Amino acid sequence: MKKVPEILTLEEIKKEDIPSVGGKGASLGEMYGIGLPVPRAFVVTAQAFRRFLGETGIEDRLFAGLAGLNVEDNAALEEASKRARELVLSVAIPQHLQKKIRDAYGELGSEPVVAVRSSATAEDLPDASFAGQQETYLNIQGNGDLLLSIQRCWASLYGARAIYYRAKQGFDDRSVNIAVVVQELVEAKKAGVMFTSHPVTGEPLTIIEGSWGLGEAVVSGSVSPDKYVFDQRSGQVVDRLISAKLEMVVPEGKKGTKTIEVPADMQKAPVLTDTEVKELARFGGIAETTYGVPQDLEWAISGKDFYILQSRPITTIRAPVHGKPVAATAGKVLVEGQGASPGIGSGHVAIIRHIKDVGNVKEGDILVAKMTNPDMVPAMRKVAAIVTDEGGMTCHAAIVSRELGTPAVVGTKKATSVLRQGQVVTVDGEKGLVYEGKTEAPPQKEKAVAAVASAPLITATSVKVNVSLPEAASRAAATGADGVGLLRIEHLILGLNKTPMWYIRNKKEEEFITELEGGIRIVLDAFPGKPVWVRTLDAPTDEFRNMAGGEDEPHEHNPMLGWRGIRRDLQSPDQFRLQVEAFKRLWQAGYNNLGIMFPMVSHPDEFIQAKCMMEECGVDVENVTLGIMVEIPASAILIEDFIMAGIKFASFGTNDLIQYTIAVDRNNENVATMYRPKHPAVLKIIDETIQICRDYGVECSICGQAGSDPEMAEWLVEHGISSLSANIDAVAKVRDRVARTEQRMILEAARRVHAREGVQ
Ligand code: PEP
Ligand code: MG
Repeated sequence: MKKVPEILTLEEIKKEDIPSVGGKGASLGEMYGIGLPVPRAFVVTAQAFRRFLGETGIEDRLFAGLAGLNVEDNAALEEASKRARELVLSVAIPQHLQKKIRDAYGELGSEPVVAVRSSATAEDLPDASFAGQQETYLNIQGNGDLLLSIQRCWASLYGARAIYYRAKQGFDDRSVNIAVVVQELVEAKKAGVMFTSHPVTGEPLTIIEGSWGLGEAVVSGSVSPDKYVFDQRSGQVVDRLISAKLEMVVPEGKKGTKTIEVPADMQKAPVLTDTEVKELARFGGIAETTYGVPQDLEWAISGKDFYILQSRPITTIRAPVHGKPVAATAGKVLVEGQGASPGIGSGHVAIIRHIKDVGNVKEGDILVAKMTNPDMVPAMRKVAAIVTDEGGMTCHAAIVSRELGTPAVVGTKKATSVLRQGQVVTVDGEKGLVYEGKTEAPPQKEKAVAAVASAPLITATSVKVNVSLPEAASRAAATGADGVGLLRIEHLILGLNKTPMWYIRNKKEEEFITELEGGIRIVLDAFPGKPVWVRTLDAPTDEFRNMAGGEDEPHEHNPMLGWRGIRRDLQSPDQFRLQVEAFKRLWQAGYNNLGIMFPMVSHPDEFIQAKCMMEECGVDVENVTLGIMVEIPASAILIEDFIMAGIKFASFGTNDLIQYTIAVDRNNENVATMYRPKHPAVLKIIDETIQICRDYGVECSICGQAGSDPEMAEWLVEHGISSLSANIDAVAKVRDRVARTEQRMILEAARRVHAREGVQ
């Protein structure tokens, strides 16, 4: 490791210093360097941490304790993590290092209140992200508390989750270090967030949201902030929405914060003057110009001083900013299908005709196949785009591509015959088109589509997110969704490449349970305190056939109507019990936010039977959240009976509900145009089910693809749905539409009252 000082101030940090100061530290240094008013800070570098390990003599013991650890063995992982953390906290920071930290702290002022944040960093992979896995300590004051917090940040590098994540990502623990950012806490009088361009359309409009007190209230969504729109073309504030700001977060004493009521005269008063909006927009402009992409900033104002606290790219923008669509610069259209995952990708065509072809797919290729299946997921991770012959918006390729943020076009009917191996093409996953040639300026693969939510909107209708791959959990959480409305575990299980029956036959049940528990835990950890509805296994027999143990899968004429969902679990109690065991362990570990949802339920008896089987496995069924998918018309027709049987929630699986209501195969491209989510019969079934759930106060949600369509979301809100769950890429736009619809409904109701009162 190169010789770097133990402490670096913001003035000293350069972009290349990520290995020493971590992503957070480097970003602050860079922001300072380009002239943004960043609160003062210093970084205790990764080198300081390694010197601490070396000089205190704990280094070898620490890494020996982690070597060869089986991170899938939960007890061993917890124990190793505990020992490592205790070891780091058991020794004193060397005196010379303590002095440097005290001196740097002294430079910030006379015992100022600071935030102490971890910033983990990998020596050889500076871009690796370990966000959210290590600790942050706010409102720290005085040398004693500061030194202790720094040491605690160091110890948090060995939290169980962090060790697990590194092992899974193939990082050697020795190569991962930790820097600690110590930053003055600004006592904001007003604060908020700012998008330097419109977060959805990319128009040159700066959107600023703000409220009174510390920024937490706006970021966490506990207050309806004011909204200001500044048009960069005219240099004018073109829109202002002043909200009633009822509460604010303020510092409490020297430590901690508290939420108080906003004084009456400030509640409806604008937080920002036009001059302040312009000044903030100016800083936004500096950030966007320097970073080259629109930014999502956090800002604060204290007295006359402006501060920019954080800047990160907005990744919700789907069209290229201020320009014509990228694909328009490419050649002629070669094939057409359904745009299943937004974004644009160019590369060489790699056709998979047989699973053995998967090995030939290279980073940045365009994967072309009849249809994807779970064996292809590793290849799907590295390609620039995916094109299939078959399938619709809810097929395997579509679901997995959306989660991976990889552009995809499905149901082209002929991509594998029209496209040639090695041919260069450009895929537009929004429009469903595949063009000849490469775009003039190759667009960045939009890996991070919707990784950051649009401004926090508060909606009475919860807007949740669907997850299928645990690796997508952090992107899903970054949308700010109100929970997970559907975690499909079959993708996790199919990814193991062995059927549950294989594990049972080979007496490896424990392995299966641990895999399942670990995968679900990653998602639960990404959504602390928010509901996560995990669905029991729902894999049609044809999907199991390619896996080890799949040889015995029955050949069904129509797997969609066959042995899947709860009906299969009830007939295969061993398979069901394995899943329940994983859920039970999570409940026992304190994950009270875990709810379980049964798929393909057609009769209340199936729900009752599943509940009884869970009880036999030792689950306290009355005190956990159990619900059903409404995806067979029968379950909608009998919804009242299900409520009597004790469901705590119902969620429309419209992908199936539509196909079973209007008899149109969801995966058959020949009838794709007849697959109509808004078919009047489908809408009628949904409406009637919602009304009955409302009568009984049972949460009614949607997790099918239709819930990701803003128009459908509007209809559902108008008809009284309690929550929606959308794909990662759709959360922001759905939330936006839900908010607008709710506001419109309130306004219309108020106008009606007003009109009535006016008449009287
Ligand atoms: C549905 O049917 O709408 C659903 C969400 O389940 P899946 O797509 O997994 O069948
Ligand atoms: Mg379904």
